[in-house]
Order: sequence, then structure tokens, then C-alpha cells
Amino acid sequence: MDGATPNDLTQVVTADKAHVWHHLIQHKPFETADPRIIVEGKGMRVWDHNGKEYLDTVSGGVWTVNVGYGRERIANAVRDQLVKMNYFAGTGGSIPGALFAERLISKMPGMSRVYYANSGSEANEKGFKMIRQIAHKRYGGKKHKILYRERDYHGTTVACMAAGGHDQRNAQYGPFPEGFIPVPHCMEYRADAQTLPHGATYGEAAANAIEEVILREGADTVGGLILEPVTAGGGVITPPEGYWQRVQEICKKYDVLLMIDEVVCGVGRTGTWFGYQQYGVQPDIVTMAKGVASGYAAISCCVTTEAVFDMFKDDTSDPLNYFRDISTFGGCTAGPTAALENMAIIEEENLLENCNTMGAYLMDALQGLAEKHSVIGDVRGKGLFNGLELVSDRTSKLPVEEAQIAAVLGECLKRGTMIGATNRSFKGFNNTLCFSPALICTKDDLDQLTATVDEALTAVFG
Ligand code: PLP
Repeated sequence: MDGATPNDLTQVVTADKAHVWHHLIQHKPFETADPRIIVEGKGMRVWDHNGKEYLDTVSGGVWTVNVGYGRERIANAVRDQLVKMNYFAGTGGSIPGALFAERLISKMPGMSRVYYANSGSEANEKGFKMIRQIAHKRYGGKKHKILYRERDYHGTTVACMAAGGHDQRNAQYGPFPEGFIPVPHCMEYRADAQTLPHGATYGEAAANAIEEVILREGADTVGGLILEPVTAGGGVITPPEGYWQRVQEICKKYDVLLMIDEVVCGVGRTGTWFGYQQYGVQPDIVTMAKGVASGYAAISCCVTTEAVFDMFKDDTSDPLNYFRDISTFGGCTAGPTAALENMAIIEEENLLENCNTMGAYLMDALQGLAEKHSVIGDVRGKGLFNGLELVSDRTSKLPVEEAQIAAVLGECLKRGTMIGATNRSFKGFNNTLCFSPALICTKDDLDQLTATVDEALTAVFG
């Protein structure tokens, strides 16, 4: 590890403790313990300010660094672009903005237009605003309701919180905007088989529950449905057979725009460019952020079909008939420049293929852990996006305590491996360990992951 001298680092830790308000954590423990400052990364590994090395199996903590750390190629391209032209407002165009849009659309048959922003939450806000504006333009404002699934998460802004059922994230931030309506989640592991209509698979029945909400609310009031392809922070929940096909039919039947949140699944995480491509659906709006540039620059995209775009373009007689939205830093050239290189790396290094091969290897290894540790209630995943749901016993399926999950994470950290977990999210179901290694991972990395989790589970649960 190179970098700052120990003296500099003491100053850094002091400055951090005095002035940085960290994301999503309670700060009280920092009064007696130092924050962990990650000072360097290479490939799958990072080093903290004490020089300790970790295998990072969560791609920067929150499923982001898909191509791994230390990619000079991305850094150099961004540097060159910034020196030449760093920024001009997105009302005009930029070379990397145009080239990345073209390249992205080439991976998304049926999609056509890319709207640039900076974060996943922001991209989702753009999608919500498009759905709302279409409701006003076409349906006199009536078809304005947006359905969301209760265990999905779409971000941290007030409207995104309104579109999410993560009660521990949302508490004390209300009141929220109106018109966001929950639909039941689709989670086979916790499904009650008795409630299935005769002849339906669980996936079809779970999708039919969305139709019931549309009919209850009135189809003429529902304009959009937002879903994650695989639910991320809500517990790494993979959809069963038949679910997505039925969702698509329902959206078509009731003229409901299908908006898919690919902020986590997008750009290779599940083994295809986008998670929805695993299930053969054709969305109207797709949002993405984290893996788009693997954290080398801030960028998010709200991508639409030409049909959605046309609704804002065609009627020139109405002075309000355009998308009256801007994102200052959506015009920054660093994002699309990094995104172009990121995509080129995924292609040139065959990382989608590696994701599928390593994903299958990891799933096998995790199934093996489940045979050994009865605390593992369910093993889920798609590509290199995997979860272990921990339960106090397999019959009651009661979640283990959050403190026990924290202890497992701590045991892994002690052993030099970073893993993730669902965190302060849905109705006490904060009991899923998460793994999302970079798409470059090897069998050796995954063997280290599994061996560490094995030891950590033994240390905490016996
Ligand atoms: N959508 C999903 C599925 C996410 O997991 C997240 C963040 O974790 C977001 C949206 C929000 O993204 P951001 O934190 O970039 O605003």
C-alpha cells in the first residue's frame, strides 16, 4: 500500500471524526473508536488507514465498483476529458454524453433515449416526473398514481422514500408526497402457499396481486409501476418463474408504464447487461446508476423508449410540452467518459461471462454452507448478486437478531473480508447477508469469501 504517511493519516482521522457526517450510521461509537478510512484499492482488494487489507465482496460497500479498483484506463480517460472539456449544461451536448448514450442504447434493444443525472435517487425522480407529466398531458392528471413493491428501495429523496416500504429508512421523514401506492412483494421463500389461486404459480399469483391493486385504485388513476428486477437492499429477492411475464401483461392491459430500477442490477451485475433482460420484459423507463461507471465518476441515467420520448416531443402547440427538468451535474463529462471505459472493460475482459461462471460457482458454495449451517434459511441470487437469509429456525423462519448479523459482519472483517447485509430496511427483515463481488472476481476470491463466512457463522451461531 502506498499513500499518505502515518502522520497525515492521524490528521485525516481527526478531521474525519471532527467534521464528516457519515452516511447511514450512528456516530456515537466514533467518539471512542476510529472510523475506518479506506485509502487504497486494487482489483478486488482495499486497504484501510492502518494498512489492513480486505477482500471486498460488496464492490465498494453498496454494489458499485463492478470492474474493480485501480483502473488507470478509466482514470486517464476522465483526466484527458476533464482537461479538454469538463462541463457544460446538459441543455446542450457533449462528446462523451453522445457516445455513451449510443453505446448504452446498443445494449438495450427497444430503448432509445438517455437522460443524464447523478444518483440513483435522482434518476428515479426523473422517471416519476415523466410518468406524472404524461398523466397530466394525456389524462388530465388523473392517471398519476405510481405503484411500488413494498420491499423494493428506490432511493433517499422524499419522493423515492414515498415509493418504498422500508419503514426504518422512512420513519420521521414524512409527510411524503401523495399518489405512491404499495403492492405486495413477490418473495417465494415467505409466501403462504395456501393463498394461491388454483392453477396459478406463485410468480403469477404475486403478479396478479398487482392487478388487484390496479383494479382497487381504478386503472384510470394508475400511470406507472416501478420495480427492481432483483430486489437489492430489501433482501436480495429473486423473482420466480412467470412473475415478470405476468407483470408485463398487466402493465400492457391497463396502460401502466413499466419503470425498472436497475440502479443495482444494471451494467452486468446479474450476468446480463441489465437485470430485466433475464426475464424477457420490455420496459418503458429504465434507471441505472451504481455500476454505470463503477464509482469512478458520478453518473446516473434515466432511459426511455422512443414512444415515451415522443409524448414530450410531438405536440409543439403546447408551450409546456417538454420535460421541464434539469440536473446541473448531469452535464458533467466525467460520468459518460468513465461509463464508456467501464463498458469497454466489461466487453473486452468478457466480464458478463465471468459473472455467470463465478456467480454459479458462488451459488454452489453458498448452498454448501446452507447444508452445514441451519441458521441459513434461504440462498438466493442471480449472477454475482447473492444473499443468505438467516433465520432463528427453519420452520418458524423468524429472522435472527440484527445484532447477530452485525456480529457476522464483524467476524468477517476481523478475518479481512468485507461482506454486506440488509440494513435498517424492511419491517425487521434485516437478516440477509449480501455478496456482490466485482465482476472480475476469481474462484480464489470466492473461496476466501465462503471460508470466511463459514468461520463467521460458526463463531456467532456455533
Ligand atoms: N435504487 C436502488 C435499487 C438502490 O439500491 C439505490 C441505492 O442503494 C437507489 C435506487 C438510490 O441510489 P443513490 O444512492 O445513488 O441515490
